[in-house]
Amino acid sequence: MASFTEENYLKAIFHLSAQNEGKAVSTNELAEVTQTRAASVTDMLKKLSEKEYIHYKKYQGVTLTESGSQIALKIIRKHRLWEVFLVEKLGFKWDEIHDLAEELEHIKSKELTDKLDYFLGHPKFDPHGDPIPDAQGNMPSVGTTQLSKMEQGQKLTIMGVSEDSAPFLQHFDRLGLKLGLEVSLTDISDFDHSLELQTESGQNIRISSEVAQNIQVKARKLS
Ligand SMILES: [Zn+2]
Repeated sequence: MASFTEENYLKAIFHLSAQNEGKAVSTNELAEVTQTRAASVTDMLKKLSEKEYIHYKKYQGVTLTESGSQIALKIIRKHRLWEVFLVEKLGFKWDEIHDLAEELEHIKSKELTDKLDYFLGHPKFDPHGDPIPDAQGNMPSVGTTQLSKMEQGQKLTIMGVSEDSAPFLQHFDRLGLKLGLEVSLTDISDFDHSLELQTESGQNIRISSEVAQNIQVKARKLS
């Protein structure tokens, strides 16, 4: 069985490798996201490799084995289900839940997770728009794209955010954005790559390129 720290490493490797489009994750990347020294990361990687949760060769980076990936998906499933619970049943705001879910995700009981899933009505997405893996560890495919990769003139629906931190989510709220909002991408600045969105009601919202990199959208077909 994996410890609290081991679970967090497997989860971090899973997320980083998804960001790298499946490529191996480097020790430095892991040191950065886990905020630990590279030497301690290396020690942990040796441990995870002995347990056959990861494939690890010095200087070649890390990938998850099938069993490592199953553990990571279980943690992510619990994290996202708890986030739904906190918002829908306990009335937390979406910028208040990530740190709580970071702790709740480590409760081992499969029965609790399955009952929570049932109680919530088998949600497919968490409050940030991230897909929730099912009990078999299948991650639903979402088909969303980073807003920053879209072209001027496109009509879009805001589907999710890829940053869970409170300052980002509060900024997102203050801009008047929300999940499900339909917008047109009316301008992309040549100077700083900031974007202008126009809502259905004609309101213009200017956002920085950094914000746009953390918003997931789907293109809507022109009718
Ligand atoms: Zn979260």
